[in-house]
Amino acid sequence: MKAIRRPTTLQEGTNGPWQSGMASAKLFVSVGTNGRKDRLTVTPASAKAPPAIDRKARLKIPPQPMPAQDPEKRIHNFDEVYLPLTLDIARMEAMRCIQCPAAPCQKACPVHNDIPGALLRLENGDIIGGARVFFETSNLPDMCGRLCPQERLCEGHCVVGKHARPVAIGRLEAFLADQLAETAGYPAPDRVEPTGFRVAIVGAGPAGIAVAEELAKKGHAVTMFDAWPRPGGLLTYGIPSFKLDKRIVDRKVDFLLNRLGVRFVGDTYIGRDKTLDDLFAEGYHAIFLAYGASVNNRLDVPGVDLPGVMQATEFLVRGNLPPERLPERLRDPLPRPRDVVVIGGGDTSMDCVRTAVRLGAGRVTLVYRRTEAEMVGRAEERKHAREEGVLFEYLTAPVRFQAGPDGRVAAVVCQRMELGAPDASGRRRPVPIEGSEFTIPADLVVLAVGYTADPGVVASQGVEHRPDGLVIANEETGETTRPGVFAAGDCVHGADLVVTALAAARKAAAAIHAYLSRKAEAAA
Ligand SMILES: Cc1cc2nc3c(=O)[nH]c(=O)nc-3n(C[C@H](O)[C@H](O)[C@H](O)COP(=O)(O)OP(=O)(O)OC[C@H]3O[C@@H](n4cnc5c(N)ncnc54)[C@H](O)[C@@H]3O)c2cc1C
Ligand code: SF4
Repeated sequence: MKAIRRPTTLQEGTNGPWQSGMASAKLFVSVGTNGRKDRLTVTPASAKAPPAIDRKARLKIPPQPMPAQDPEKRIHNFDEVYLPLTLDIARMEAMRCIQCPAAPCQKACPVHNDIPGALLRLENGDIIGGARVFFETSNLPDMCGRLCPQERLCEGHCVVGKHARPVAIGRLEAFLADQLAETAGYPAPDRVEPTGFRVAIVGAGPAGIAVAEELAKKGHAVTMFDAWPRPGGLLTYGIPSFKLDKRIVDRKVDFLLNRLGVRFVGDTYIGRDKTLDDLFAEGYHAIFLAYGASVNNRLDVPGVDLPGVMQATEFLVRGNLPPERLPERLRDPLPRPRDVVVIGGGDTSMDCVRTAVRLGAGRVTLVYRRTEAEMVGRAEERKHAREEGVLFEYLTAPVRFQAGPDGRVAAVVCQRMELGAPDASGRRRPVPIEGSEFTIPADLVVLAVGYTADPGVVASQGVEHRPDGLVIANEETGETTRPGVFAAGDCVHGADLVVTALAAARKAAAAIHAYLSRKAEAAA
C-alpha cells in the first residue's frame, strides 16, 4: 500500500477548490485509537460559509485513499480493518462534498445527522465544531461511523456517488468523533441540577446507552441493569473488535459512569433476578426497556446438540473477548479450530467466519441456503471475508451434523437448493434438490441463524408483546402498554442496526423526560 505522508501543518495538501484564507490556531489532535497525539496547526472554522461552492471543481477531486490493513496481515490480528485517517486526507475527502441544499444523505440517515454541515466545518479545519454537529443528533457517531451500512443509508444517497465513489461519510464521521472524544472529550453540560427522579434501564446496549446519556444530562438519576458483566450490549458482546475496537466502547462507558454519574448493575437478568414490579417497588419512577433481541434462534437439524456445534453469540464472545470480560461459564478459551462451518447469511455470520479466520482455522466455509443477492448483510463485509480466504457455499442448507469417533461434530451433511416462489419475507424460498447431498468436514460448526427477543422479561408485568416476543411500543414515544414503561431498539423492532436502535431510543428519551416533567408538575 502507498505510504501516506503525514503533514506537519494542516495547510499542506489541503488546497481545495477554494481557500478560506483564515488565521491558524494550535490544537492537539490524536489519530484514531492508537493513543498517539500530535500538535498540529489547524485553521479555525469560518464564521460564515465559503463564498460559493464550485461544484464542478469539487467533482474533480479524486476519492481519497481510505487506508486499511492488508488481508494477509489482518487475518493474524483482531485490530480494526480500517486504519486511522490523517487530517489532510479527511479534509480533502470532506471537500468532495458538494454541499447539496436538499442533503439527501441527511434525509437517509435514521438520526438525520447534518452531514454537509459537519463536513463543511471539517474542510475549514474546525474539527471540534464538525464533531459536535454529529453529536447533536447522535450519541454514538464514533461507533455508527464504523458500523452503519452507509452504502444503503447516507452514502447510498450521496449525490457524488452518481459520478464517482460517494463521499466517505462514515469514515469522516468516525474521524471527527474520535478527535473530539480524545481531545475535548464527549460533549457534556458543566453542571446539571438533579431532578430527584430515578430511571431504570433494562439493557446497556446502544438503545440503553443513548437513553442513559440523554436522561443523565437532564439531571435524572439513571441505573442500567444488564445480564452481561459489563455495559455495551452487542457493541461489547457481539460485534468483533476488527469492526469496532473495544476501547471505543470503553471510553463511552467511562464517560457515562464517571462523568455523567450513571450507575451500572451487571450480571442481573430482569424477569428472573428482578421483575419490573420489583424495580417500581425499589423507587424507580420510569423504566426503559432496551434488552435487545438476544436469544439465538435454534436450527432444527439432527445433531445440533453435538459438542462442537455452537451458537453465534457464544462463539463471538469467547473468540473476541478476554476471559475477564466474560461470565465464569464462558471463560474457557476456544480451541484452535481446523475446519469451521458457519451457517447463516447475515452480518452475524460474516462476523463469525472472520473471527474463525483470526483464530487460525485451516478452512472456513459459510453455508447459506439462498444466493448472495438475498443476503441481508453488508456487501463490504462479504468482500472482506472473501479477501480473508472464506469459502462461500450458496444455495446450500445443512441436513444433519455428523459425529466423529470422539462424539464431537466431525462433518456437516448439506443439500443443494434452488430458489422457488417468494416467501413471507419477499425473498425467494429455497427448495431442496433431491439427491444433491454432500459433506463438508467440520470440527466446529457455528449457528448464526438470527435472534429473537425474550418475552420472559415482560411476562405478567403488564407490558404487552407480540407472539414473536417483541414489545409493543409507540413508534414516536416508545410508550408501552404499562404507564411509566418505555421501550426501543431491537426488543421492539427485532434484530436491526445500531443507528435504528439509537434513533428510536432518542425519541423514547424525550418522551421519558416529558413523562417525568409532567409528574413533577403534578406534584408541585
Ligand atoms: C454479531 C452481530 C454483529 C452486528 N453488526 C452490526 C453492524 O456492523 N452494524 C450495525 O449497525 N448493527 C450491527 N448489529 C446489530 C446491532 O448490534 C443491534 O441492532 C444493536 O446493538 C441493538 O441495540 P439494542 O440496544 O436494542 O440491543 P443490544 O445491543 O442487544 O443490547 C441489549 C442488552 O440487553 C441485555 N439484556 C437482554 N435481556 C436482558 C434482561 N432480561 N435483563 C437485563 N439485561 C438484558 C443484553 O445482555 C444486552 O447487553 C450486529 C449484531 C450482531 C449480533
Ligand atoms: S449527498 Fe453527498 S455531496 Fe450531497 S451534501 Fe450529502 S455528503 Fe455532500
